[in-house]
Amino acid sequence: MKNLPIEILDAVDHTLAKPTRIHPLDTANGRPFWIKREDELSSGISGSKLRKYASLIPYLKKKGVEHVAMIGGPNSNNLVGLAQLLRENDISQTAFVREAADAQLRGNALLLDMLLNEDEIRFITRGQWQAVETTARTYLDNLPIQKTHLLCEGCFGIEGLPGAMTLAADILRNEEESNLYFERIYIDCGTGLSALGLILGLACLSSSARPKREIVVTLIAESEEGFLQKLKKLTPSLAQEYGLELNIRDHIRFIKPQLSPKFGSINKSLFEECRKIAQNTGLIMDPTYSVKHYHAATNDLSLNSIKKPSLFIFNGAALGVMGFQDKLSP
Ligand SMILES: *Cc1c(COP(=O)(O)O)cnc(C)c1O
Repeated sequence: MKNLPIEILDAVDHTLAKPTRIHPLDTANGRPFWIKREDELSSGISGSKLRKYASLIPYLKKKGVEHVAMIGGPNSNNLVGLAQLLRENDISQTAFVREAADAQLRGNALLLDMLLNEDEIRFITRGQWQAVETTARTYLDNLPIQKTHLLCEGCFGIEGLPGAMTLAADILRNEEESNLYFERIYIDCGTGLSALGLILGLACLSSSARPKREIVVTLIAESEEGFLQKLKKLTPSLAQEYGLELNIRDHIRFIKPQLSPKFGSINKSLFEECRKIAQNTGLIMDPTYSVKHYHAATNDLSLNSIKKPSLFIFNGAALGVMGFQDKLSP
């Protein structure tokens, strides 16, 4: 199949899930290594998020949702991205934000503060964070509005999946235009929805005439078991919801970040790597996901070398360095 099934395409706003380019990266050892510039999807929203929203927003509009509650940490890329698109689409919102350890407004916390007015942010103490979903649900139930929707942390859910699947179709377009075939694709994983979208998108598109691919998932904020469980649950739901036959041919392999591996943690070597990547490649990468992902992927490529071209998915955005300016200056 050349493109995704029509049922999937119809669920997506294609002015949001646009084509993005690929270009080769100069790795010193000469292995063909390309990058997909998902960071160029938006100037203010992290790339992978925009693909998810490309089906989430149409879903909310179709349901006539008037008010959305969203949940996340103070540095969440997801809240900042959603706040922009909900405003654009005139859907009112309340963000339930975990109280920051850092009192200073910087990075995504600053952007969120700029985007939302006081009434639209509720800070939840760390002690009460466990019950945040109940708090948000109760809040929505007490609004004088009928059509409300609760988005869980990271927006994991089937509504974002058609949008996330467009990544697979766009990679096939890149391959055709550049006369390439990527036998290995490196993608990072938070909730895993973007990586699952890639895998399930490829399941719709792959031809048995081509070699199997290896999808290498960098586990930034999820475990291998957690990811596989989600895959097992989401695959039949997607197949049923859209009447698809899904046949995953590709091999999935997992790697872990070695630089400051705990999700959200930072250290000196992470920032050194961020600067090194900028100097060597011209890419400004967010430390939280992309720097860790890039370091893990290039390391994996040198350990598990293949002659065929590999593709690195850059899901992040340069805005992601904003919160770390003092740490990034030498
Ligand atoms: C949010 C985010 C991810 C995680 O996406 P999931 O679909 O939740 O796995 C990965 N990379 C970057 C840069 C992100 O902002």
